Amino acid sequence: MSRSLACLLVCAAALPPACKARTRTTTDPEPAPSASASAAHGHPAAHASAKPGKAARPQAHGDHPASSSKTQFLVPFAWEADQENAFAKGRSFLKNLMDDNESFARTSGAPHFRAFAETQKPRATVVACSDSRVQSVAIDATPENDLFTIRNIGNQITSSAGSVAYGVHHLKTPVLLILGHTGCGAVKAAMKDYKKEGDAIKKELDTLTFDRPKGSVDNATVWKDAVIANVNAQVREAFATYAHEIEVGDLMVVGAVYDFRGDLEAGPGRVTFVNVNGNTEPAKVASFSRAVKLTAAVTKRPPAAPPAAPVWRPLPH
Ligand SMILES: [Zn+2]
Repeated sequence: MSRSLACLLVCAAALPPACKARTRTTTDPEPAPSASASAAHGHPAAHASAKPGKAARPQAHGDHPASSSKTQFLVPFAWEADQENAFAKGRSFLKNLMDDNESFARTSGAPHFRAFAETQKPRATVVACSDSRVQSVAIDATPENDLFTIRNIGNQITSSAGSVAYGVHHLKTPVLLILGHTGCGAVKAAMKDYKKEGDAIKKELDTLTFDRPKGSVDNATVWKDAVIANVNAQVREAFATYAHEIEVGDLMVVGAVYDFRGDLEAGPGRVTFVNVNGNTEPAKVASFSRAVKLTAAVTKRPPAAPPAAPVWRPLPH
């Protein structure tokens, strides 16, 4: 067991017995000290009970900060023996978050952020699914200040109409990209009986009104076709809403599918255009894709973050 985990056991052991076993909280907002420091601060007994692979039971601890103070806040701790505990997993995520952010901020440097500190100038409004497997890194190596991204279940316009309108009307992005993805759970759910879902989820699934392909969505081909049908439905919705911008040439609406499963047979991880301004004819969409590839870069990409510095350097102020 690492020192930091052992220390957290110390904190858990010091909790009031009234706290619930697996969702207990403590009012101590202090960061966990090192294990040796814990022992030096009066927690040797609890520290000694922290055996690898075994959870420490909470014990009454009279000198732990009282929980009655209104000025204190609650910090969740978890039993270290159960790595599947929600708090343990959550804390692990937050640890990664803090480490990654520190590295990102340090290696990017102030000039990187100064470039877009005052205003944003994205080139695309992107409507993508909230699915954790769909991330901007798949479509843009420099997404900062380049993608105005709206995410929801099923990459739909209706449930996020205001956000989409902000990107098109206020930020005036030349592209509105509807980015569906293979294996979309929202698309599958919309084709099944979702009466038992909560009202909030039902409300969002109700707005996925794409033309249902024939057959069971449990069939991989039907599921893939449903994903594409949903992208097409979203492009139609966008076309109806932003007809003027499209007509005068200020906006193009592109429907695409990010295929991390390889269902579209272009290779896993590829993005395939399936709809351009309402045009779904494969030959024309393929022709458009070829033309895009040959396009010279006429708009400047945002600068990429510099590579990680080889040695630690202080953050500039
Ligand atoms: Zn999805």
